[in-house]
Amino acid sequence: MKKLSVNEARQADAIGSSVKIQGWVRTRRDSKAGFSFIELNDGSSQGNIQIVAPGELANYESDVKRLTAGCSISAVGEIKESGGRGQTTEMLADSIEVHGWADPETYPLQKKRHSMEKLREWAHLRPRTNTFGAVARTRNCICNSIHQFFQEQAFLYINTPIITASDCEGAGEMFQVTTMNLDGIAKQQIEKLNYRFDFFDKPSYLTVSGQLEAETYACSLGKVYTFGPTFRAENSNTSRHLAEFWMVEPEMAFFELTDDMDLAEAFLKRIFADALSQCGEDMQFFNDRIDESHTLIERLEGIVETDFVRLPYTEAVDVLVKSKKKFDFPVQWGIDLQSEHERFLTEEHFKKPVILYDYPKTIKPFYMYCNDDDKTVRAMDVLVPGVGEIIGGSQREHRLDVLASRMKDQDLDIEEYWWYADLRRYGTVPHAGFGLGLERAVQFVTSMANIRDVIPFPRTPGNAEF
Ligand code: ATP
Ligand code: MN
Repeated sequence: MKKLSVNEARQADAIGSSVKIQGWVRTRRDSKAGFSFIELNDGSSQGNIQIVAPGELANYESDVKRLTAGCSISAVGEIKESGGRGQTTEMLADSIEVHGWADPETYPLQKKRHSMEKLREWAHLRPRTNTFGAVARTRNCICNSIHQFFQEQAFLYINTPIITASDCEGAGEMFQVTTMNLDGIAKQQIEKLNYRFDFFDKPSYLTVSGQLEAETYACSLGKVYTFGPTFRAENSNTSRHLAEFWMVEPEMAFFELTDDMDLAEAFLKRIFADALSQCGEDMQFFNDRIDESHTLIERLEGIVETDFVRLPYTEAVDVLVKSKKKFDFPVQWGIDLQSEHERFLTEEHFKKPVILYDYPKTIKPFYMYCNDDDKTVRAMDVLVPGVGEIIGGSQREHRLDVLASRMKDQDLDIEEYWWYADLRRYGTVPHAGFGLGLERAVQFVTSMANIRDVIPFPRTPGNAEF
């Protein structure tokens, strides 16, 4: 017996074929005429297929009439043209086999709508809802177009380490990795840990970025990208931060800042265009049911067509100051822009994606290329309405002397980054790259308000269940 997914069985070309379909019951409705309608979903699409279960089925009374939300079944029968509204096909079942019951007294996903917060407590079952099925399919589509975009342009996909001894940002927001018996150490009240007894003979951490390692490959192989998990122990309980998230980091030799911005813009447009063209039904769902103003599709279509604004940081500060708007954090040249400032620029002032560049060197990491003014570095952030920063990138400092002095300014020991410095010693080249947070991209494409709802199992302060 040929198996079809629910999505395949919903298409007109399935009409007339005898097939098996399998999935989870959404609802069952009994007709007075002595048969039942079952709405079945298997995750292959937003829409369900309707199964007509005739009263003549041998297990009609014993099984079919006991089916409730969440039960898993196989149904064999013929796909027919459907007279019902909003569906092309339905199945007339010859047999229905129940694999697993779902006690309606305790199964959490009953017809009633649950809040996103409540659904997080059932992260193992929430993919059975329309919303989380749609998010999972759209996230998959985005991952696929990320790879396609880079592969079509001959980037090499490389894997950078998850455990590292270098802190890319020079900040202390890292999860330490150790095999030392911390309880034992605490008991002995050892004040200074001796890392000679630890696995790597030195402190090591979960990576916050694969950039430094990606730079080494870019400086041998030209164009590379990494796409992997990233960890930040920042204690920020926002709707835009996770402790574990996925980051795409392209790194390109012989690229300067403008090339970097061009690539980032083309990359985002490609992701949005693919989601629109490949996730039609799910995008319609996000537009109608998730997006507050029901304009998601129109907005994304607009963004794919328009040029992003490109603005130096210094001019952005002017715009913010001249706006006369009251911000919680007052604006002056040299401050790190807060999300309220970024959102004003992209949501209220320009009303489209904005690429800010040439930031003050004092607020950016050591590896960014220092401009001739000696005040700014060639950094760029892509800001989008609703989400804020979606991409952060820069041209990298490829001059050894400048790099060394920047590291000194930031109290970093160049000896510890000897291999990073070597790239500037032997055949140094201008190069650039950026990082896109996958979950921020999924948030933007789906309009989902909280980043915890666009990753299957969110990790945030105090939350590592499942
Ligand atoms: P933010 O200012 O929003 O905290 P950042 O400047 O620390 O971000 P970068 O170091 O530039 O972030 O990282 C590159 C990208 O990774 C960001 O543009 C964002 O899309 C994503 N990102 C950074 N931190 C997080 C996080 N905690 N959770 C999810 N995505 C993140
Ligand atoms: Mn950033």
